[in-house]
Amino acid sequence: MTLAGTLRPQYDCVVVGAGVLGLFTAHHLAQRLDPRRILVLDRGYLSAGASGRNGGGVRQQWEATATIRLAREAVAVYRRFPREFGYNPWFRQGGYLFLAFSEEEAGRLRKVSGVVRSEGLPVRWLEPHAIQRRVPALSTEGLVGATYLSSDGVIFPFPVLWGLYQDLRRRGVEVRTRTEVLGLSREGPQWSVGTSRGTVRTARVLNAAGGWSRDLSALAGLAVPNTPTRHEILATEPVKPFLDPMVVTLRRGLYLSQSMRGEIIGGFSLEHPGEGTSTMPSSSLFLREMSAQMARLFPPLASLRVLRSWAGFYDETPDGFPILGEDPRAPGFFHGNGFGGHGFMLAPAAAPRLASLLLGERTDLDDRLFGPGRFLGTKAARPVEGLTLG
Ligand SMILES: Cc1cc2nc3c(=O)[nH]c(=O)nc-3n(C[C@H](O)[C@H](O)[C@H](O)COP(=O)(O)OP(=O)(O)OC[C@H]3O[C@@H](n4cnc5c(N)ncnc54)[C@H](O)[C@@H]3O)c2cc1C
Repeated sequence: MTLAGTLRPQYDCVVVGAGVLGLFTAHHLAQRLDPRRILVLDRGYLSAGASGRNGGGVRQQWEATATIRLAREAVAVYRRFPREFGYNPWFRQGGYLFLAFSEEEAGRLRKVSGVVRSEGLPVRWLEPHAIQRRVPALSTEGLVGATYLSSDGVIFPFPVLWGLYQDLRRRGVEVRTRTEVLGLSREGPQWSVGTSRGTVRTARVLNAAGGWSRDLSALAGLAVPNTPTRHEILATEPVKPFLDPMVVTLRRGLYLSQSMRGEIIGGFSLEHPGEGTSTMPSSSLFLREMSAQMARLFPPLASLRVLRSWAGFYDETPDGFPILGEDPRAPGFFHGNGFGGHGFMLAPAAAPRLASLLLGERTDLDDRLFGPGRFLGTKAARPVEGLTLG
């Protein structure tokens, strides 16, 4: 990563944000454009955003077929990632267990599994005794059942970022960390991108700024519906392997899995209303509540010590779908954001489509679900992706 030196005056595409989405998209662009004319900028370090702060969950159980298809494709990309990029992100397909603690939750999950099955994925409904056979340490108190898809899994995020970064470097793409975008203005068909290392011009800008995408759009004079929300997560001391699947509860969106080193990694949705995006602290309230919920679900974990906790931003949209494509109000300004808590599992499939859109091509993405224009104009009822938890 180049830390010093001046930027060139002109690029074909400037990607703002070196998270998983920005890097994956640059990887696809580099196969179509002259790599030396692609610039990726990040004001932090390589894993400063949510891409270096997440739970690594990769699941294909979703309410909308469009999301299921993207996630299924992402699973295939992650399976071949070590061969293609030379870095092993330890993608472990131990399945995802979505737990239902009421008939209402069970009804919702059964509906989801109907859609997932119709997409050819063999999701199963498990009764409490079958859940306990699979995860003996899990308390079945109050449990009604669970959906289980064995090809869902957990990935270690950092090797993904490093594999992508090394690939870009090999191809000659310029990736500049510690370089902040401070201003954006359009002059005819060109964008002028003001950065902390000088100004560059380009025909295309990609907003891949994750939890800060709203701020970046504002620099271009664009109001967007994205809302950054802070989410906390923790890792415990390691214990002997006992947990293959990622376990998720619908209530409060609690999720936890066991890492290769034996640590339990997990979080849940704790609201932090009215916050800005300048800091991302973790709280003692989260630690207390998360520990209590983990101990209720897995009584043997009650005496486990927490090693560390941290936080990051979900970049949320009103309908639970990401925003992918050119902003109709600003030719040449593209969105690749709004992934909520699921960008790591959707980026591998969103990125090649985004690269095509940046090159002016059509894709199979349904504009009514993913297009930036869906939030402009009429407020007609639109489909939503409701399973945006865990
Ligand atoms: C606690 C937590 C748990 C999660 N768990 C999961 C999970 O299990 N599975 C999953 O799929 N997803 C999960 N996610 C969500 C996932 O991490 C994100 O959706 C994904 O990483 C977003 O990637 P990105 O590339 O869009 O953004 P980011 O990784 O956030 O990258 C954006 C980058 O933009 C840079 N930037 C911002 N503004 C500027 C500027 N003005 N100039 C230059 N650079 C700028 C930032 O420094 C940052 O590095 C989780 C997120 C959190 C916070």
